[in-house]
Amino acid sequence: MTDTKYVYLDNAATTPMDPRVIDEVNKHFKETYGNSSSLHSIGQKAGQLLEKSRKSIAGLINANKQDIIFTSSGTEADNIAITGVVLKNMNRGRHIITSSIEHHAVENPCKQWEKDGFKVTWLPVDKYGLISPEDLEKAITNETILISIMFANNEIGTIEPIREIGAIAKTHDIIFHTDAVQAFGKVPIDVEEMNIDLLSASSHKLYGPKGIGLLYMKNKGIKKGIGKYVSPIMWGGGHEKDMRPSTVAVPLIAGFAKAVELAKGEMNEEANRQIKLRDTIINWILENIEDSSLNGHPTQRLPNNVNISFKYIEGESIVLDLDMDGIGVSTGSACSSKSLDPSHVLLAIGLRPEEAHGSMRATIGRFTTEEDIEYFFEKLPNVIERLRKMSPLKKGVK
Ligand SMILES: *Cc1c(COP(=O)(O)O)cnc(C)c1O
Repeated sequence: MTDTKYVYLDNAATTPMDPRVIDEVNKHFKETYGNSSSLHSIGQKAGQLLEKSRKSIAGLINANKQDIIFTSSGTEADNIAITGVVLKNMNRGRHIITSSIEHHAVENPCKQWEKDGFKVTWLPVDKYGLISPEDLEKAITNETILISIMFANNEIGTIEPIREIGAIAKTHDIIFHTDAVQAFGKVPIDVEEMNIDLLSASSHKLYGPKGIGLLYMKNKGIKKGIGKYVSPIMWGGGHEKDMRPSTVAVPLIAGFAKAVELAKGEMNEEANRQIKLRDTIINWILENIEDSSLNGHPTQRLPNNVNISFKYIEGESIVLDLDMDGIGVSTGSACSSKSLDPSHVLLAIGLRPEEAHGSMRATIGRFTTEEDIEYFFEKLPNVIERLRKMSPLKKGVK
């Protein structure tokens, strides 16, 4: 950052690039500029780096390297998964099952198909944000072509029962997609063991560059093979097995691979460190600030996620006041933070609109230190107290 210190606690919105990743990306912008489809040596060099990176990234989730398709983002991967399955399978059935707490990148393509006549089941969640595998199984019909349930929620950090969901999808021979953008590199994922057919991830949530993501597409399991059960949603020059044409962003992918290698090497240790910090923050706030409550599951949650509701005040004011103190947090999610509607995730776990409005998400990361957290503790109570004094909601309530 600049010379003034800034405590960045919004790592679920995006992460700063790891300096080791920046070095890798810079190096390849200079040295590996070829088009990976070109036949000459400059192109071949880019092609080799692309395949080496693909292999390394696939290893993180126990995938075959040929089942990884690079995209520009997590959003694009989600859109290929949903619309691609719809386009290819609409003659077999017109029913999608998803949850009521998906990221907009899954929610909105599903809504779009709902407008176009598809039936969409929006599974409810319990007060912790968990879907029920029994509800899922009951929702399946002969018309169901896709189950799309996120691995971990971006607002409240809840980790869904992915293994159970995968088993149900497999039993009923239905394609299972999971948006794993928040979980990728933070918690162990095994696409074989968990029976995941399609999985989305994004580099910039993992200390890698922005503008690069991936869709894992299982080639076996679903008998027909890659591209046979998912249609592309763009047509062009045949890159990425025709699934995602465009000259491939090899330097960004090399950076993504570097970010994945770093995550692989440090995952357990780093998760334990973050869980400790996370629980310190949660417990401290609940003990020291009255009328505060935790959103999401107490233990089945991402190592870096804290989401708290403070009664009588607005999340937006908390964000702006903390920012003046040099601390960056968010309300519900980055995507809804510019709209005044309460978060659909917090409403789905049963919060009343005014409770949902008073929520703050603080997401720690690789570069968050204990000193950062102490500084946060120094500033937060004053902010909450000041806002509550001004709050019209507080009047008449004890
Ligand atoms: C950030 C995020 C996305 C979108 O990823 P982009 O690469 O920013 O498009 C999708 N799903 C979840 C759960 C996310 O947190």
